[in-house]
Amino acid sequence: MSLRVAVIGAGPAGIYASDLLIRNEEHDIYVDLFEQMPAPFGLIRYGVAPDHPRIKGIVKSLHNVLDKPRLRLLGNITVGEDITIDELQDYYDAIVISTGAVRDRPLTIPGGEHSIGAGEFVGFYDGNPRFERDWDLSARQVAVIGVGNVGLDIARILAKTGDELLVTEIPDNVYSSLSKNQAEEVHMFGRRGPAQAKFTPKELKELDLSDTINVVVSPEDIDYDEQSTAARRSDKSLDLNCQVLEQYAIREPKDAPHTLHIHFFEEPVEVLVDGESIVGLRTERQEYDGTGAVVGTGEFTDWPVQAVYHAIGYRSEPVEGVPFDHERNVIPSDRGKVDAGLYVTGWIKRGPVGLIGNTKSDAKETTDLLIDDALAGKLSPRKYDDPSAIVDLLESREIPYTTWEGWYRLDDAERRAGEGCEILGRERKKIVEWEEMVEHARGVPVVS
Ligand code: NAP
Repeated sequence: MSLRVAVIGAGPAGIYASDLLIRNEEHDIYVDLFEQMPAPFGLIRYGVAPDHPRIKGIVKSLHNVLDKPRLRLLGNITVGEDITIDELQDYYDAIVISTGAVRDRPLTIPGGEHSIGAGEFVGFYDGNPRFERDWDLSARQVAVIGVGNVGLDIARILAKTGDELLVTEIPDNVYSSLSKNQAEEVHMFGRRGPAQAKFTPKELKELDLSDTINVVVSPEDIDYDEQSTAARRSDKSLDLNCQVLEQYAIREPKDAPHTLHIHFFEEPVEVLVDGESIVGLRTERQEYDGTGAVVGTGEFTDWPVQAVYHAIGYRSEPVEGVPFDHERNVIPSDRGKVDAGLYVTGWIKRGPVGLIGNTKSDAKETTDLLIDDALAGKLSPRKYDDPSAIVDLLESREIPYTTWEGWYRLDDAERRAGEGCEILGRERKKIVEWEEMVEHARGVPVVS
C-alpha cells in the first residue's frame, strides 16, 4: 500500500520521523517535510550554540536522510497560515507534527518582564532571521536564571570573547555585537542544590576549556541532603556533575577576564528596576526541608547586575486547527497519536526535555502508531493522488517555497562566505536575512 505523509517541522524530530517512515517495509511511504524557515535542521541550526560543533555535526546524518528520494522538503511555508491542517488532509493520508519548542517560558516574578528569555538571545547569536540583529551587551554584571544546559550556553557565550567565537559559523552582525560585550561577571542561579542541577557533565566541564572564563562555585553552596546523596549513587551523570562542581569550589581561581559564578540555593524573587534599567536581582536563600525539597530561609541578597536572562525552559506554540494543552504547552496525544491520521513527535509531544538523541526513540513510538493505524485501515485516504498537486496549490498561492536542492545552493553560498573570511578553518558563515536565504535557495540572483 502506498501512503503519503506530511511531516511538519524539519528539525531533528521531524527528520528522524521521516526517516523511519520512508524506510518502512510494510508500506510504500512518501514524505513531504514542511518547514517554516527557508532552511532545514531546526534546533541544530537555530538552537545549538555555535561553539558546539560536535552537536552541530548531527546535521551530517540528517543531511543523509534528506538526500533520500522518497523525502521531499518544502520550506518557507507556515502551516496554519499558508496552508491549513484541514487542507493538508486532502493531500496526505497522515500528518505528523514536529514543530518543537522555541518560545521561552515566562519569568513570573516581580520585574520578570524586564528579563530576557534565553531563546531570544539564542535566536540572535544563532543568526535566526526572526530575532534581533544587534544585541546590547553593555552590562558588566549579568545574571542568568536556571541551571540547565541552555543556561550554560547563555552564560558561556556571555563569558567568551567575540574573537573566540569567530572561528564558528556566527554571522558578521553577531560578531559585531559580541565583540563589544562588556560582561566581566556572569552569575548563574539555581534555586535548588548542586545535585538538582540539570546540566550534563560534559557541558559543565567544557566551561573550563576557555582561557577567558574563570568558573567559581562557593564552597557554601556544596551541600547534599539524604535524597541528594541517594540520587548521586543511582545516577552517574548527576554524580559527575557534583564532582565537577566540587572541583570548581575548591580550586585556586584562574586568571581570566571573565568570571562565571554558579550559585545554588538562591531562588530569584525580584528583578530590581530603576525606571527602565535593571539594577539588580534579589534572591532568597534556600535550604533543604528534610523531604528532598528546598524552602526559603527569609535571607535575601541583592546582586548588582545590569542585565538578567532567564533560561528556565522553552515552550511550544499551538498549531492552528489542532488541540493544545495550554498548561503543559504540548499537543495532547496518546504516546504521539492525537487521532487516527494526526500524530506528534519531539518537544511538541513531550515537552522541552531531553537531548537530541532522545528524539529518535520518540519518533519510533509515534511512527509505529501511524503504521499500525495504516495496517488497521484507520487512515482517511488522501483526495489527491498526484504528488505535484500540493506544489500546484503552493504555486497558485504564490508561496516562494524552498526545496532540498535549494538547501544545496544556500549551503554552498554559506560555505563560500566562510572561505572568504580572514580566519582560516571556518566551515561556513551563516546568512541571516530571510529574503537572502530564500533568494539563494530559489536560485534567484542576490543583489549585494
Ligand atoms: P532544563 O534542563 O529543564 O533546565 C531549566 C532550569 O531552569 C532548571 O535549573 C530549573 O530549576 C530552572 N527553573 C525552572 N523554572 C524556574 C523558575 N521559575 N525560577 C528559577 N529557576 C527555574 O531546561 P533547558 O536548560 O532549557 O534545556 C532543555 C533541554 O535541552 C534539556 O534536556 C537540555 O539538556 C537540552 N540542551 C542540551 C544542550 C547541550 O549542549 N547538550 C544545550 C542546550 C539544551 P528546577 O530544576 O529547580 O526546576
